[in-house]
Amino acid sequence: MGAPETFIQSGDIGHWIAGGPQRGSGSRSQTVWNPTSGKPACQVLLASVEDVHAAVAAAKAAQPAWGDMPPIRRARILNAFLGLLNQHKDRLAAMITAEHGKVFTDAQGEVMRGIDIVEFACGIPQLLKGDFTDQVSTGIDNWTLRQPLGVVAGVTPFNFPCMVPMWMFPVALACGNAFILKPSERDPSPSLLMAELFKQAGLPDGVFSVIQGDKVAVDALLTHPDVKALSFVGSTPIAQYIYETGARHGKRVQALGGAKNHMVVMPDADIEQVVDALIGSAYGSAGERCMAISVAVLVGDVADKVVPRLAARARALKIKNGMELDAEMGPIVTREARDRIENYIGIGVQEGATLVVDGRGCQVAGFEQGFFTGGTLFDHVTPAMRIYKEEIFGPVLVCMRVAHFAQALQLVNDHEFGNGVACFTSDGGVAREFARRVQVGMVGINVPIPVPMAWHGFGGWKKSLFGDTHAYGEEGVRFYTKQKSVMQRWSGSIGKGAEFVMPTAQ
Ligand code: NAD
Repeated sequence: MGAPETFIQSGDIGHWIAGGPQRGSGSRSQTVWNPTSGKPACQVLLASVEDVHAAVAAAKAAQPAWGDMPPIRRARILNAFLGLLNQHKDRLAAMITAEHGKVFTDAQGEVMRGIDIVEFACGIPQLLKGDFTDQVSTGIDNWTLRQPLGVVAGVTPFNFPCMVPMWMFPVALACGNAFILKPSERDPSPSLLMAELFKQAGLPDGVFSVIQGDKVAVDALLTHPDVKALSFVGSTPIAQYIYETGARHGKRVQALGGAKNHMVVMPDADIEQVVDALIGSAYGSAGERCMAISVAVLVGDVADKVVPRLAARARALKIKNGMELDAEMGPIVTREARDRIENYIGIGVQEGATLVVDGRGCQVAGFEQGFFTGGTLFDHVTPAMRIYKEEIFGPVLVCMRVAHFAQALQLVNDHEFGNGVACFTSDGGVAREFARRVQVGMVGINVPIPVPMAWHGFGGWKKSLFGDTHAYGEEGVRFYTKQKSVMQRWSGSIGKGAEFVMPTAQ
């Protein structure tokens, strides 16, 4: 593969309303940074309440015709979008690297996992087929169908600016809804390219909109009576706020929150496989993944074998400009996020954990102002420490030593988050017991980051998800549609006169 083309941000980044780019009426804007150089790249315009109302009005006007279109014709438009995404996937990946900082090869993987969901949504005629019962009573049939909600919205985090929006809008649109995306203000560019590609694919104007913004825009969506459902992915305090506020305003809400993902390593696990898995899942994307492993739970005597190997590998990580194809870790998204992560490292030292590898103060030649930090490794971490309890969301792996399996399982189950978890073992009985007993939504057995495929659905437990349904897959179809039951009679008992008893099958 040749060198990928770097994406250079330029000009102000605005909204996409009623089928075209708009600057909106808001007077506020925010800097989008280039995390590699550490310099400002451009400004993103922050929507006013009126801008949100304009997007909702355009969506509401466009949705009835879109929702009425036969599902197979909606699928054809999604299929055209899929073709365009495949043509532009490296451009999207370069945009992600430019604004987020993750390495280009990882960004390519992110785009591909989003494309998976579009492929799934192209099968919408099958997914919306409904159930039919012939002859529930003599001459009467009963069937259920699923209909779109109307205008729905998605509010997404900085760490997957393509994939997480694509957890939402392909399924929402396929089901016949109009969708308004409010992406993260830290990496807003991919949202506009996706909107442009939809236009080229033939999506009617107003069916997909993008509102750039912050709390003002989110609150306007949360309280607007014409927004029927809201999907959110981000940190736990905001997820809880979105869930509660949305529910108070009569909306359907799914709000995915933060994480602290454990990997339990049994003494019989393959040590080389374990070390590879921990290094990739703790330090990949600089730990800014909701499914990153941030806690290694080392059972029995396994710690003495694993920790020295991890230390050597963490010190040797290739930390550089993410557009270099051999880069393993790029910068952190913003200076504030980098400082927050490095502050946690200081807290861990004060709390008495053993700092085995210290990533603070990492400098990358040619990018001295970039927001880089190195891979950090702690050992002898205990459950009471903040570096264990709280989500750091950076390349910091904490190791905990426990005596046996039951203690490891209890530790995982006692944590307030329950997004992802892994168990590495060569014992099928232990693996089965772990998968059944663990109080976490997504489980990997000898798989470190078990992000479910497009047709399985994604979601955590406990404080990692507020709401009932997981994102995408058939759960996504249920979230973005409401069920209707129709009972129909054309002959038989018509004309028998008024019936005053509860009807039963005749
Ligand atoms: P964040 O919660 O700061 O922001 C997420 C979105 O909410 C953004 O669009 C932001 O503009 C908006 N927002 C922020 N503050 C708000 C407020 N006070 N009121 C209304 N809206 C507000 O999250 P982030 O820093 O962008 O992303 C990282 C977090 O997301 C981590 O906690 C990570 O674990 C989580 N995450 C979870 C999943 C999951 O599937 N569970 C996936 C990806 C990321």
